[in-house]
Amino acid sequence: MCRHLAYLGPPVPLAALLLDPPHALAHQAWAPADMRGGGTINADGFGVGWFPPGADRPVRYRSAMPIWTDAALPALAAATHSGAVLAAVRSATIGMPVVETAAAPFADGRWLFSHNGVVRGFPGALAGLAADLPIEDLLTLDAPTDSAALFALVRHQLRAGKPPDEAMAALVREIRRTAPGSRLNLLLTDGSRIVASAAGHALSVRAGDGAVLVASEPLDADPAWRPIPDGNLLVATPVHLAITSLS
Ligand code: GLN
Repeated sequence: MCRHLAYLGPPVPLAALLLDPPHALAHQAWAPADMRGGGTINADGFGVGWFPPGADRPVRYRSAMPIWTDAALPALAAATHSGAVLAAVRSATIGMPVVETAAAPFADGRWLFSHNGVVRGFPGALAGLAADLPIEDLLTLDAPTDSAALFALVRHQLRAGKPPDEAMAALVREIRRTAPGSRLNLLLTDGSRIVASAAGHALSVRAGDGAVLVASEPLDADPAWRPIPDGNLLVATPVHLAITSLS
């Protein structure tokens, strides 16, 4: 169980997502409310990717340390503003390494990606799908984890020009078929839209005032938060939400 979020809208300080709200991502790291899938805290690293205003590429900051132990983060997050952010805190799946490069977001060009969950039977369960990947993609995986491998699979489809919602939905469907019991909450943004699957873990969305925030758990008690029912794919921009079934 990791926790992740993505935001699109007017620039806000990163602290408004990571640290300040009562159930901000840092709070979800040590006191998550929805623990399905095992694990108790998300202490195995964290990461944040954000588009500086006017930039067409995101900047990334990742660490293998618990988010609450990073003494530099509060000042950095208060001073850094962005209108497009993807962030995650990690609880490593048993057997997977605790290293900075295993922390989301994974990045390629404009794309930022996170996975909350597990691929059952990894790595063997992905062998069939990975057979399509160029050897370079396998050799340049960020880390030997299911999440990094999922990103390589999504990235391959995106580079081939597949629409992001189709790439994400197809991957979830395929892995549910080949690796039943997998948990596949995927989160992807290019700074203009968010694609998120609810497939085994919690997911909520809050939209309005030209902004959208998708998160594993609501950051506060705002009644505008809506849960995304399991088995659905959300495509969100600051002004539009679409939810479609993954089955
Ligand atoms: N399996 C992934 C990892 O180990 C994600 C873990 C999670 O969602 N808790 O990084």
